[in-house]
Amino acid sequence: MIAVVSIGTLKRSLIEGVVGFLNDYHSRFGISVEFSGEIPTEPFSVAFNPLRGQYLGRVFLPTLSALKERLNATAVLGITELDLYEEGLNFIFGLANPSLKSAVVSVHRLRNEFYGLEPDDELLIERAIKEAMHELGHVFGLRHCPNPRCVMHFSNSLYDTDVKGPLYCPVCEEKLEANLRKLGVFP
Ligand SMILES: [Zn+2]
Ligand SMILES: [Zn+2]
Repeated sequence: MIAVVSIGTLKRSLIEGVVGFLNDYHSRFGISVEFSGEIPTEPFSVAFNPLRGQYLGRVFLPTLSALKERLNATAVLGITELDLYEEGLNFIFGLANPSLKSAVVSVHRLRNEFYGLEPDDELLIERAIKEAMHELGHVFGLRHCPNPRCVMHFSNSLYDTDVKGPLYCPVCEEKLEANLRKLGVFP
């Protein structure tokens, strides 16, 4: 089971859209994806950089990994409204650690509103699905893919996210299947 948690409050339709897609996709590997509830943002206040007004992404991953153990899950994905960054990068859409089997995705910069455009809930869900698939791909050992339509293509901007599809290309999917087999996740 892959557990999805909301870090802070997010719209139910957003969570359901992402979890529904992930669950449908991963069912081919015999893996279910479940929403495991909301966790508070307070424990992550140590990640807050007041000079940037952003949270350091990597700080989230060990906490999420500990939660994964408690939930007895194969992997955990946190989704948050908090704006994330990494050293050397202005922002990140998400981050994953394959050893910790945990990942985090921020919807902060996936929203049209962030760029002064009209809100679009459906487009937001579509983008969140792509970022979630991408980070889970990293969790299971996939690297960035040169195919701009593949969900493992690196997104440097929202444009890149919108160009790529929500699925792995055949090359990445084959690797994913092999990696899941190695992990003993795939029956
Ligand atoms: Zn990536
Ligand atoms: Zn690919």
